[in-house]
Amino acid sequence: MNQNRISKDGQALVLFIDMNSFFASCEQQDNYWLRGRPIGVCVYTGQYGCIIAPSIEAKKRGIKTGMRLNEAIRICPELVPLETNPDRYRGYHVKIIKILKRYAEDVIPKSIDEAVVNLTNYKLIYDDVSELAKKIKKDINREVGDWLKCSIGIAPNAFLAKLASGIKKPDGLTIINEQNIDEVLGRLQLVDLPGISSNMAWRLQKHGINNPIQLRYAQPEKVKNACQSVVGLYWHYRLNFSEVDLSTHDYKSMQAMRQISASQRENVEQVEAILLTLCTTLEKRMVRQNVLANDISVSIRYEDGRWGDMIKPGAPIQEATEILRLIKLKMKQSALRSGSESLLNNKITSLGVGVFNFVDGDLAQFNMFENTLRKDNLRKLVYDIKSKFGNDKLVKAVELTNGKVLKDVIGFGSVKDLDEDYIMQL
Ligand SMILES: [Mg+2]
Repeated sequence: MNQNRISKDGQALVLFIDMNSFFASCEQQDNYWLRGRPIGVCVYTGQYGCIIAPSIEAKKRGIKTGMRLNEAIRICPELVPLETNPDRYRGYHVKIIKILKRYAEDVIPKSIDEAVVNLTNYKLIYDDVSELAKKIKKDINREVGDWLKCSIGIAPNAFLAKLASGIKKPDGLTIINEQNIDEVLGRLQLVDLPGISSNMAWRLQKHGINNPIQLRYAQPEKVKNACQSVVGLYWHYRLNFSEVDLSTHDYKSMQAMRQISASQRENVEQVEAILLTLCTTLEKRMVRQNVLANDISVSIRYEDGRWGDMIKPGAPIQEATEILRLIKLKMKQSALRSGSESLLNNKITSLGVGVFNFVDGDLAQFNMFENTLRKDNLRKLVYDIKSKFGNDKLVKAVELTNGKVLKDVIGFGSVKDLDEDYIMQL
């Protein structure tokens, strides 16, 4: 999927499907006796067991997710408590996704009971999307389970489609478009928008944004100031039909790995230099693809074990030296915590760095990093020059180690770096 664009694209069309009371409905699907009864799926069914999924019937009697069994049974004495069967739910999930894939290639499962179907490229095929939604419901009933119900929302972006899917439950079908969006939003409070917490609603209200309609028409800068972050801009885009919740990069990650030879590992500085080349490899790939990463992973093998961790940079990241700095910081913290020697040592046999959870570069640059925008542009320029005039013509000082240009940087644009670093794009 590639809809992460700032420009308003009235052309996009997204279907969001949310299975209703999914766990409980799967139980009722498999056990006829449970159908029509209030049931509560729990992780354990002791007195204080927590209900993680009430059935539609249980919800009607006031049973809520998170209630303890003793309280729930006081409210609804005929409630049937059941333990979870994750394999059962996964089995149904797989079957449902298979049905969705019948209608469009772009199907992104968002959780075990939710999925997004990008219909943008299928509009000519399905001229009536509500008919399509009804067909999907029918297929699920016929081929997956006659007791399973879903709510479907259709809109120009994933957020509004999800919002639409929540408007009528169970078994709903709601379409949000330019004609009816104000009417739909007019019936909702700020906290009804998935993702707006009461805390954020309070911040928005402090800035004079009291309801979803005002949020939709507020100046983007005002919303950004109210949220004190880029998140505010996302809200502006979502309610004005741009896509910020889906991207081509949803599934993708980039990884760079390198074996460390016995002679290389003798010198820890050399090992660190190799770690930097891995970060540089990822940086230039991200620059080329115009993405920034929200997550970093690092994995190290030693002669006698392994270490690995995840890093959340706090803001999307692209710069190799910054990735390296965060990795080293993480290693330091980890070594301190466990009281072990430095993790960057001469027992390392291989290094791996991964970046994933990407955001579109245009969007990231536009919205949050005014102060780093120039740096990002400079980096792009450096890579442009490199690809035009040869990679060893222009090298950042940090890429120079002991006066030598790192091999990997020289190898930019050739197949060499593919041999030397194992690159994987999922
Ligand atoms: Mg659901």
